[in-house]
Amino acid sequence: MVFKLPSFSNRKRLLQRLWNSETKIILTGLSAATGVIALSFTGVLQVPEWAVLDLFFRVRPAASTDPRIVVITIDDEDISQIGTWSIPDIKLAQLLKKIRAQKPRAIGLDLYRDLPVEPGNAELQKVFRTTPNLIGVEKRFGSRRVPPPKTLAKQDQVAIVDRVEDADGRVRRDLISTRSREGKTYLSLGARLSLIYLEAQGIKLEQIEGRSDQYRLGRSIFTAFQSHDGGYVRANAEGYQVLLNFRGDREVFTTIPLRKFLAGSVTPELLRDRIVLIGSTAESTNDFLLTPYDSSQTDLFSRTPGVFVHANAISQLLSAAIDGRPVIQVLPEAVETLWAILWALGGILLSRRVLQGTWTEKSFFYGQAGLGVAGLSLVNVASSYGLFLLGWWVPVFSAILGLTLSTGACLLFHKQDLHRLAYLDELTQIANRRYFERQLIKAVQKGEVSLILCDVDFFKLYNDTYGHPAGDDCLIQVADTLQQSVRRSDLVARYGGEEFAIILPGTSIELAERVAERILQRMRERNVPHQSSHVSEKVTLSCGISSVKPERASFQLLDGTIHHLVERADKALYQAKQEGRDRYCVRQIER
Ligand code: GH3
Ligand code: MG
Ligand code: MG
Repeated sequence: MVFKLPSFSNRKRLLQRLWNSETKIILTGLSAATGVIALSFTGVLQVPEWAVLDLFFRVRPAASTDPRIVVITIDDEDISQIGTWSIPDIKLAQLLKKIRAQKPRAIGLDLYRDLPVEPGNAELQKVFRTTPNLIGVEKRFGSRRVPPPKTLAKQDQVAIVDRVEDADGRVRRDLISTRSREGKTYLSLGARLSLIYLEAQGIKLEQIEGRSDQYRLGRSIFTAFQSHDGGYVRANAEGYQVLLNFRGDREVFTTIPLRKFLAGSVTPELLRDRIVLIGSTAESTNDFLLTPYDSSQTDLFSRTPGVFVHANAISQLLSAAIDGRPVIQVLPEAVETLWAILWALGGILLSRRVLQGTWTEKSFFYGQAGLGVAGLSLVNVASSYGLFLLGWWVPVFSAILGLTLSTGACLLFHKQDLHRLAYLDELTQIANRRYFERQLIKAVQKGEVSLILCDVDFFKLYNDTYGHPAGDDCLIQVADTLQQSVRRSDLVARYGGEEFAIILPGTSIELAERVAERILQRMRERNVPHQSSHVSEKVTLSCGISSVKPERASFQLLDGTIHHLVERADKALYQAKQEGRDRYCVRQIER
C-alpha cells in the first residue's frame, strides 16, 4: 500500500493545526520556565525568597525554651547601676567566679575584653587563668577587627564572633569555622562552646568519609552552605557555613540580667551543666543584628542582640546533635530547576482547564485564571511551608512566576487563536468576510482604495463534474493564486461561496487593472482542469474593479461610500460575466 501525503495545501493546514495547539502551548510553558530560571539567576528573586523564609520562621509554632543554654545579659539598667561601660574588670571577675561556682559546662564571654578596665585587672587575669571552660572572643576578619583577651589567647580559649550577613543586612547563616591564609582554623563562639558541651557526653565532630563538606555531629549531619543553596544566588560561601535554623528570638532562651544574677536572686543550680553566655543587650553598646524575627511590621527598630544569635547557633548544634532536630536542607540545583519547570507546566494545565470551562464572558475567563493562579500559588507557598517545618527550604518565587507567566501566555495565545478563528475562513485559511469588512472601513478612512471582486467561472459545473470535495480543493488553489498575485499590504478575503474580494490600499484604479490582469493570467497558468467550463478547459476567473479616492470618502458618508464601492465592483463583475467571463471590467467613479 502506498501512503499518500496530503496535497500541498492540506499539508500546510495540517502543520498549522499541529503548531496551533499542543506544540505552541507546551513551548509556551517551557519558555516561561526558561525565562523565570534565567531571571532567578540574575539574583532579583533573592530578596523576596528571603522574605518568605523569614516569614516562615516567624509564623512557625514557637519552640520550647532551650534547657541547655542560659544567657546573662548586661542591659542599660545594669550599665547605669555600675556607672561605666565597659564594666570594670573587678565586676567581671566577680561575675565569672560566681558563674563557675555553679559548675556550668562552658562559659562564653561575648564581650570584647582586649584592654584592661581597671580596677581589678589582676583579679580578672587570675580568673582567666583558672577557668579552663571559659571562652573569650575576638573579631578576626573584615575591616573592624578586635583582638582577644591576651591571657585567654595564650591558653587557646578564644573563638571568633565574625558573622555572615546577607545583602539585606540580615543574618541567616552561621559561620561555624573559617581558615586564615596561613591555614589555621578558627572556630566560632557557638561551635566552640557546643563542642565542649557535647564532648562531656561523648559526642564528637566527625568528618564524613570522602566528603570534605559534610560532618556528623551526634544524630545529625551538617553540609556546608553552597553559594546557590535555596534562594541564594552567588552568595559568599567562604569558610564553613550552615543555614541557621533559628530556634526563635530571645524569648526561647533563659535570660538573667546581670544585676539579678549578682544579687543572687536565681536558683543556685540554674547554671549547672549548661552553657552560659555573657553578652550585652544595652542599646548603648550597639551589638545588634537583624534576624528573620526582626520584622519591620512588628517594630521598625527591632534588632536582635548579637548574643542571642550565638545562643541560636549553639541551640542549633546541640539540638541537632542530641535531639536530632532537623538542620535546614536544600534541594540540589537541578531539582530546584525541575520544580520551577513543573509549576510552569502546571500553568498550562490550569489555562487548559479554564479554557475548557463554559465561561463565555471575558471577565469570567480571566477571573477564573486569576483565581486559579492565586490558588495554586497558595498551594505552592503552603507546601513550601510544610517542607520548611520538616527542615527543607524550597524557594517559591521561581515556581509562582513560572506558573503565572505560562498561564498568562497560554491565555494570550488562546485569545489570539480566537481572534484568528473569528476572522479566518476555515477552508481557504485566508481572511473571511467579517475581517474584509473591518479592513475595508479602515482602508477607506486612510485614503485611495481599489477593490477587486473575483468569481470563479462556471463553478457550479465544476462541482457537478468533479464533485464537491474537488471543488473545495479548487477554491483553496484559487485563494492561493490570489495571495500570490498581490502585495503583502493587500488583503485577500473569501467574500462568499466562490467569490473573493481583494482590498488594495493606496492603489489607483489603473494599477488595480494591472493586478487583475496578473490574477487572471496566473489563474490560467495554474492549469486547473475544468472540462465543463464554457470559456476554457481550465478554471478561470472573472473580476470587477472599483475604486474610491480620498476626497470622495467623506467621513459622514463612510457607510454610503463603502456600500457604493462594493456595489460598483459587483456591477463590474456582473459585466465581466456578461461579456464572456475570464476577464475583468472596471466601474469608473460615477457622478
Ligand atoms: P458563474 O460563472 O456565473 O459564476 O457560474 P457559477 O456556476 O460559478 O455560479 P453560481 O453562483 O451559480 O454557482 C456557484 C457555486 O459555487 C454554487 C455552489 O455550490 C458552489 N459553492 C459555493 N461555496 C462552495 C464551497 O465552499 N465549496 C464548493 N465545492 N462549492 C461551493
Ligand atoms: Mg461563479
Ligand atoms: Mg457566484
